[in-house]
Amino acid sequence: MVRTRKTISALKQKQLLQEADSQCPFCRDRDVSTFEFHHIDGDPSNNDLNNLIVACSSCHTRITKGCLSEADVVTKKRELCWTLQTRRNTGQTAVNVNVTSSSFRGDIAQTITKISGVRAPRIVHPPNSVGANLAMKGYIDYLIARYFDYRKADRSYGRKTRFSHAVIHRRIQKEFGAKTFFLPESSFGNLVAFLTRHIDETIQGRRNGSGGIQNYHSFEEHCLKHNL
Ligand SMILES: [Zn+2]
Repeated sequence: MVRTRKTISALKQKQLLQEADSQCPFCRDRDVSTFEFHHIDGDPSNNDLNNLIVACSSCHTRITKGCLSEADVVTKKRELCWTLQTRRNTGQTAVNVNVTSSSFRGDIAQTITKISGVRAPRIVHPPNSVGANLAMKGYIDYLIARYFDYRKADRSYGRKTRFSHAVIHRRIQKEFGAKTFFLPESSFGNLVAFLTRHIDETIQGRRNGSGGIQNYHSFEEHCLKHNL
């Protein structure tokens, strides 16, 4: 049976990006210009929202090459749906994304649809703030994502306290007196210490610690990895 590729509507593309909070679910890359849509069941005509997941082009290649298994993808999709539901329940507003056009890129894999003309929402942070410093902002984003992942893992150990991204940002604001990415660069060290302490104190963090597993990579490693 020949399966024909169908264009994914702009609305669906937008919903899928919102579901992923405009970052690659696998590597957290935020460069949406490289994002593609993956058909989970391999059927390019099945544009059901449950069958689609956004991924950056390199992670999409990892999926199509089998470096990321179908189970990994399905698990990730469930996680995204669950997180989106939590964001909605906690009243966090959805991220606005503009999908201006979509075009089919058929030269790489049967399952790829390339998004073009997509821009992530831009927030301007003041000069010398953590948010204006690409390296610092990236590392803080990474630590917060890490903390969120660990809190999610804690649920499997029976930790039932509800948690959302908004919670950690509120705690930071309370502790430091300003919003996370509006803090001055001089607060960066303390902010990192605050976040890494939170990660280390999760159940997953303590388990890793006692097993000699690193909970996160250092700022230096982050800069090296991203050529910053
Ligand atoms: Zn990726």
